[in-house]
Amino acid sequence: MSGKSKRKEIPVFQTPLIETHCHLDYLQQDSTEAILQQARERGVERFITIAVAPDNLDTVRTLADTHDAVYCTQGVHPHEARLYTAEVGQRIRAGAESERVVAIGEIGLDYHYDNSPRAQQRQAFAEQLQIALDMALPIVVHTRDADDDTMAIFREFSGQGLRGVIHSFTSSPELAEFCLQEGFHLGFNGIITFNKAENVRAVVAETPVERILLETDSPFLTPVPFRGKENAPFYLPLVAEKVAELKDSPPEALIRQTTQNARDLFFHGA
Ligand SMILES: [Zn+2]
Repeated sequence: MSGKSKRKEIPVFQTPLIETHCHLDYLQQDSTEAILQQARERGVERFITIAVAPDNLDTVRTLADTHDAVYCTQGVHPHEARLYTAEVGQRIRAGAESERVVAIGEIGLDYHYDNSPRAQQRQAFAEQLQIALDMALPIVVHTRDADDDTMAIFREFSGQGLRGVIHSFTSSPELAEFCLQEGFHLGFNGIITFNKAENVRAVVAETPVERILLETDSPFLTPVPFRGKENAPFYLPLVAEKVAELKDSPPEALIRQTTQNARDLFFHGA
């Protein structure tokens, strides 16, 4: 045999990784345990599976209760904001009492798809930010094509101690700078391996490593060269490798820092 193999391997690093954003309940492949095992073999030691709607608040908590290394969030995504009611807010508060719940999310604004009316998105976002403050939990934020209103709502809460991550960051450098000034982290995933994502790679380059979190957002956004396959947490090392390249850092050092960032934000440093 000669010539270069076209087969790209998923790298395995020595330093443990934390998958800060996945949707385990939406994965079609294998069993959850099989996926977690494949990820563990590639160094992923913890997983945060994310709530998005009233009908998966209990599902993600059950996943976190039944799998050792799995933690979860409670919250309603902007797509589903039309389903957010005071009663749902009470369910989020009650669910977030569990020690397996590490954040309120994903919450935010999405004016790209406008799946829910914008006024309802803003109200659901603000009410869930208040829940996060009341419960002293960090937030996991989704924002798309809504920079001005995202900043306006964050300004209303500024100085009250909100912490969290703007996950799957794809917005403007201005929003990135604002969020970093407000003390938030930025989460990056397989998007940074996409050809057309030069703007996102530019944000990675400008973000201090102390503020970067790694995620896959699986089952969505599978990294290159596995596009077309369903995404899963075992691809996380590819995201780490790409961020390290963009930060001009040895991968192990980059992972050490980003894992510590995730520990500090979601696990009280542990
Ligand atoms: Zn998500």
